[in-house]
Amino acid sequence: MADMDSKHYELQNRIDKLETQKSTLLRELDDLEERHEKADKLYKKYLPLIVDSVADSDSLFSDVCKDLSLALKKGASIGKLEYIFNQLRDVLLKEEVEAVHGKKGWLPSFVKKSSSSLIQDFKNGYHDVVNNLKSTLGKEYNKRLDIITDKLNQCTTSNDINEIRNDLFELLQAYISESAQDREKIAAFVQEIVKGIFDIEASLAASYKHTGDIIKANDVFELTLSSELGELKESTNVAQNLEDLKREIAERLTAIDNALKDKRAKDQAVKKDAKLTLEAFKQGFVKLKQELDEATEQSKELEKKVYQDQLTGAYNRRAYDRRAAEEMDRFLRYGNVFSLLLIDADYFKKINDKYGHAIGDKCLKEMIKRTITLLRKVDMLARYGGEEFTIIMPETDKESAKQAAEKIRKNIEKIEFVYKEEKVKVTVSIGVSQISKDDKKFESLFERADIAVYKAKSNGRNQVVVN
Ligand code: GH3
Ligand code: MG
Ligand code: MG
Repeated sequence: MADMDSKHYELQNRIDKLETQKSTLLRELDDLEERHEKADKLYKKYLPLIVDSVADSDSLFSDVCKDLSLALKKGASIGKLEYIFNQLRDVLLKEEVEAVHGKKGWLPSFVKKSSSSLIQDFKNGYHDVVNNLKSTLGKEYNKRLDIITDKLNQCTTSNDINEIRNDLFELLQAYISESAQDREKIAAFVQEIVKGIFDIEASLAASYKHTGDIIKANDVFELTLSSELGELKESTNVAQNLEDLKREIAERLTAIDNALKDKRAKDQAVKKDAKLTLEAFKQGFVKLKQELDEATEQSKELEKKVYQDQLTGAYNRRAYDRRAAEEMDRFLRYGNVFSLLLIDADYFKKINDKYGHAIGDKCLKEMIKRTITLLRKVDMLARYGGEEFTIIMPETDKESAKQAAEKIRKNIEKIEFVYKEEKVKVTVSIGVSQISKDDKKFESLFERADIAVYKAKSNGRNQVVVN
């Protein structure tokens, strides 16, 4: 059972550990979901503008914009960004020319009717970007940034905005190619700036859209946005990684769940086994206890038969001999005093002769019954033989033994049977002796008691004599 307990304890431990692992993974999953959401929000922020441009399928600008968007999201190398920026500049210039020649440019197609408040919003946003660049790019770019600031202050139309935007991209492109600094750091910086530009435009476009001034129909916009978003979600590394992670975690969780279920099932089985074993043990114990009780009872019965006198129920001679030897041993070893009473029924032969053997038996039984009530638990009453009885009294000197003997004698004297209108009575003569240091054998003690009985008989019977 101890083995069973330790196994159960070990399993419980493992379940606890797995539960802890599971909650940790769930926490991690929550964190990842949060990050995923944040990433989504970011895309949503600057996507409308790109999507809107993309909707014009003939636009070269839209293609380059798409490329740039992808490159930024993928964290493309500095060389790749440089290349795309060059393309972007070329396209912007080309579209600008087309716009001059009556074809729509990218921004006029976005903003059908130039509103002064929208222009002002663009201007404010671009002022922030320019200030940011001023404090970061270094003195050599201040002049060009100042020109852009002047242009911003004077701009009134969407074409002006378009030009400023073009200037900004050119400046950034120049910065990338001119800078001798850590190109990776610059790439990151440029990404931030471009994102900032997209952010301004996206949020403006969104707010503008709600005023109903946007050129594109809402449903098309929404459709494209959602499909792009869906694609983007699929195609971006970040999203893919998150999905992978999510899937992986989900798989791991499922595996852990299964493992837990498995463990629980096994635990249950072990518990059931243990319970069954315990039940079996219990039943076994109950049966064993019953058998033991029976055996004890039987042995008691047997002992009774071996050591009990059948007629009177007192101990028999065999028991007496054994106890006599024990008391003698104790005396010889520790000097424990004890006394012996030898009781002999008076004229018993006559009783038998006169009233029959059955009455004689009845007398013997009654004598024992009455005597036994007067004894202590440690005293031992035995039928020595025929109508003779002995009592061993531990821790008792002859005076005390004599007193006890007197009581016994008087008690037996009271016995009275009526037989054929005649009163049957019985008396006893009792010899008392105490063990002494001169006694080397129990027989010495017995002999003195026997002599005492003889004296009692001689003195007229029904009396106690100490010897
Ligand atoms: P006293 O001892 O007084 O000298 O006389 P007594 O008649 O008792 O002496 P004795 O020892 O000669 O006789 C003992 C008698 O006890 C003999 C026998 O008939 C009787 N006796 C012994 N055992 C039993 C018994 O188990 N049942 C009955 N009814 N009588 C028994
Ligand atoms: Mg006798
Ligand atoms: Mg006798």
